[in-house]
Amino acid sequence: MMTLPLRPVERWLPPGKDAAVVFSIDDVHPGRSSEDYDGGGDLGAGALGLVEWLLRRHPELRVTLFVTADWRETRPSPSRVLGAIPVLRDRLYLAPVLPKGSRRVDRAPEFVRYVSSLPGVEVAFHGLHHIHRGPLVHVEFQRESVAECEAMLREMERIFSGADWQFVRGLCPPGWNAPEPLLSALQRLSFEFVASARDIRTPIAAGARTAMSGLLGAPLFTPAWVGEGQQLLHFSTNFQATSPLERAFSVLDAGGLLAIKAHIIKNAHGHIALDGVDQTYFNYLDALFLELRRRYGERLWWTSMGKVARHIRETEACAAA
Ligand SMILES: [Zn+2]
Repeated sequence: MMTLPLRPVERWLPPGKDAAVVFSIDDVHPGRSSEDYDGGGDLGAGALGLVEWLLRRHPELRVTLFVTADWRETRPSPSRVLGAIPVLRDRLYLAPVLPKGSRRVDRAPEFVRYVSSLPGVEVAFHGLHHIHRGPLVHVEFQRESVAECEAMLREMERIFSGADWQFVRGLCPPGWNAPEPLLSALQRLSFEFVASARDIRTPIAAGARTAMSGLLGAPLFTPAWVGEGQQLLHFSTNFQATSPLERAFSVLDAGGLLAIKAHIIKNAHGHIALDGVDQTYFNYLDALFLELRRRYGERLWWTSMGKVARHIRETEACAAA
């Protein structure tokens, strides 16, 4: 399988800005701690309350919530017993899954209202169900054809459209896996951006490319066009809870896009996310943002993936006119 080429966008910063910062949170859905775990459904009393706290402390900050249309995952790791049975293990869900519809965003009006009330929040897509048959329980797009990917994306968008909120047409695929048929389907459906690659290891240096999770070979700290036509933009994640402050400064000193990631679920039945939303991680981000303001001031563009994608499109449309 050939991966589509990834071409860095040459000019993506607005006039007067030298670098940019975006922050995104995965796995957001209306589940509550009284059910499996808080995926955002606890609203201000839970993880989203911490997001609200951070936004109020940093009014310039923008947050992209990658929301799953109809979350069905319970546990991220497969059953060892079922996973040991050849053939069968590829045809079954290897962890318990929720019935369709139980966490649909268009059936959670309070969740939608709360998310819409948060200042500086942008909503984008994080898959249809966040599950798959076989050992990779949460990697939703695997060997599906373009037509199958298209059908899943259409259903995902249909559910989003049924909820009364604003969203941008960007996808962070569950497990960050973006096989070529998914990228083709996103292009055919005129999605604006995809955020697949995550690399928090590769050193920050001119021309650095991603070599960790999701798409490989994507520019590590620059937006890129996926494929031949200038249709779909790609953003790489390059910073999380375990990253040292110096990594953020290196990205920004290089004139790059610092892309910070968090996961809304800290503890999924004992599976602890290192970058899960909690007070400790958010205290760290609070300190980081204060330092970024002190160091870079007005030269730093506090933005979101949706806004960067929109800006690039508008700039290129002007240049072509
Ligand atoms: Zn996810």
